[in-house]
Amino acid sequence: MNEPNVNYVEGRSCDGCTMCCKLLQIRALDKPRSKWCTHCDIGVGCKIYDERPSECRDFHCGFLINANFGEHWKPTNSKLVIALADDANQLTVFVDPDRPEAWRKEPFYSDIKNWARVAAKNNRRVVVSIGYEVIAVTPDGETSLGQVSDDQMIIERRKRGAGGTGVEQIVVNRSDPILEAMRILKDPEAAKNASPEQLAEAKHMVDSWLAQQDE
Ligand code: SF4
Ligand code: SF4
Repeated sequence: MNEPNVNYVEGRSCDGCTMCCKLLQIRALDKPRSKWCTHCDIGVGCKIYDERPSECRDFHCGFLINANFGEHWKPTNSKLVIALADDANQLTVFVDPDRPEAWRKEPFYSDIKNWARVAAKNNRRVVVSIGYEVIAVTPDGETSLGQVSDDQMIIERRKRGAGGTGVEQIVVNRSDPILEAMRILKDPEAAKNASPEQLAEAKHMVDSWLAQQDE
């Protein structure tokens, strides 16, 4: 729960809602996903509001900040919390494990599928998280990615097959050096600042890593 230090959609606020205090992980408090924070006065607010960790202060759910998410997404009613990644590449729908099928009900499911269609065209992704169980939603269907922690991230890889080009999701530890190698190759600024040796090493690392994924 939060105070608006970003622009909230007119008429929307955290008042009466504490859903993110259950569904999200808060590292500073050692609070896992899907468990109520011990500091939460459920449905009322935070009992340590002035001292709450920065993770709580900095979180603003999608419903609060984006009018494209309709009123039905209000977390207190939907039991679903939309989180937008800082780099805008991923939209996560956190689902209350006490209602694990909530995201499959309408109109939520149609919304999620529509977002997946738009995301796919823009090299972005939509995932559903029920606790740490994560499901990638694509225009073609759904893929269970198993348990994905906050120390991990999902990257996508386009693959050509007999049926055309498909997208494969791969779960990677955030500390894996492969991410830096990929950044050097993908980010024009990083590539410009890298030496020829660094570029060659990054390319070798990524090629080897991709070959391993195919084994
Ligand atoms: S889920 Fe959204 S509306 Fe509800 S308390 Fe958290 S940030 Fe506020
Ligand atoms: S510290 Fe407060 S704002 Fe943060 S999760 Fe706990 S109850 Fe919610």
